[in-house]
Amino acid sequence: MTVIDKSSNVECYDCQPKPTQKVYPICTIRSTPSMPVHVIVWAKEFYKLLFNPKVEESMLFEDQSGDEKSTFMDIVLQLRDELATANDVKIRDTIGQLLIALYNTEIQKQLDMERFKTAKKVPSPIPVDSFTKMIVDQDSIAPSKQSGYKHTDIWSKDDCISEAISCIMEASKILREGGSLLPEFDKDDDLAMRFVTCTSNLRSYVFGIEPIQSHYSAKGIAGNIIPAIATTNAIVAGLQVLQAFQILAKQMENKTGELKDCCRFVYCLRDKTRQGYYLQPTSLPSPNPKCFVCRSAVLQLTLDTTKWTFETMVKRIIKKELGFTEPSVNIGSSIIYEEGDDIDDDEYAAIVVKSLVDLPAGGMKDGTIITIEDFTQDLEVDVCINHKSDWEKKDADDEVGLEDQFIIGGDKPIAGKCDQENDQLKNDEDENDDGIVIVDDEDISNTVDSKKRGLIDDDDDDIIEVVEEPSTKKTRLSD
Ligand SMILES: [Zn+2]
Repeated sequence: MTVIDKSSNVECYDCQPKPTQKVYPICTIRSTPSMPVHVIVWAKEFYKLLFNPKVEESMLFEDQSGDEKSTFMDIVLQLRDELATANDVKIRDTIGQLLIALYNTEIQKQLDMERFKTAKKVPSPIPVDSFTKMIVDQDSIAPSKQSGYKHTDIWSKDDCISEAISCIMEASKILREGGSLLPEFDKDDDLAMRFVTCTSNLRSYVFGIEPIQSHYSAKGIAGNIIPAIATTNAIVAGLQVLQAFQILAKQMENKTGELKDCCRFVYCLRDKTRQGYYLQPTSLPSPNPKCFVCRSAVLQLTLDTTKWTFETMVKRIIKKELGFTEPSVNIGSSIIYEEGDDIDDDEYAAIVVKSLVDLPAGGMKDGTIITIEDFTQDLEVDVCINHKSDWEKKDADDEVGLEDQFIIGGDKPIAGKCDQENDQLKNDEDENDDGIVIVDDEDISNTVDSKKRGLIDDDDDDIIEVVEEPSTKKTRLSD
């Protein structure tokens, strides 16, 4: 828990890099899952494989042009075609083929290739007739459609098969009636979440992964929901109030900008210190000189200012590379470009197509310093432009596009690097050992954003922000 105040010259929210989420290797997801989170990531990719506008964006996509044909890819493509056009009987039949391919044929193929020779647990394919009997039985009711169904129910293997068929049939009904695309995976989309629950559990049955997840618990994993501990929240809230007293006292003395000697950075520790304390106060740290957000750093950007258009620069560098979402760009004191809800894009249509040197306010030339701001993220950075026209190709066939012909010098920004589209999941198993938990129904990125937005008042110079420190920060203690 800390106090952030720009005028007091103390560390800001972004001065320390945030802990990154756990990443799972593709092969673990595709071939050797061992934890519920692995099969849930797989099921989200399966959802993409069937319903994403671009099938190749799924991690499970396999190119069929090579020598080695996938056992399921042809059926996936066939089903995608049929979803919006074919009749129920045809679609059910193809769904059956696909489920058999994924949960039997593909597994058997990998067993035959002796992929699991050294594995602790050898997967066992789900028998073909488990699927065929469900496909034939048109009257079977999916578990989620049965009376008395609860989100905490654990589905049997047959329940999962029945639910999977039902989910894909529902999706095809939506596609046949509306003709539009299914939304991207969202944990709050009931159909998407039921699909992920049953298809991930079928994979758990194949690989002997325990426990089988209920709709409710799968949603927790799929949506990166982090359990928060009620007592910690209460302690931090109390600390906030104590710090607020200190800030108010300074304000009454008209001594703003001097919070360093009265406010404290307080670590909330999971394990007590040698003196037996769970709360460890330290003085407010000074800003990280390389922090992008406190703008002590000027970035050096080298590129061909005559060839790059402003549009490409905004897309490729300002947004993708630097992590801005709604940038405003200034040359000197002139705003040459802004984005935001109330900004008319057409206004800048003539500007964005210009090359950098031809921009208004003198353009961006060698040595020009521009300022990029984003009020929605409370971000600001100065960038020094360096012109370079000779970009060597490594060899004649080198197809490096203009979009990759740039160099950013200095440390890249830390803020705004949270990739929301990333499917990486945090393994929260070790978070569950503290007794009472309340579930924070937001994913990681939302939590961070709402913390920032909720506590920062843009009209006020004094910015107070409370950051609950992860236990990894213990290493910074002096004891
Ligand atoms: Zn900072």
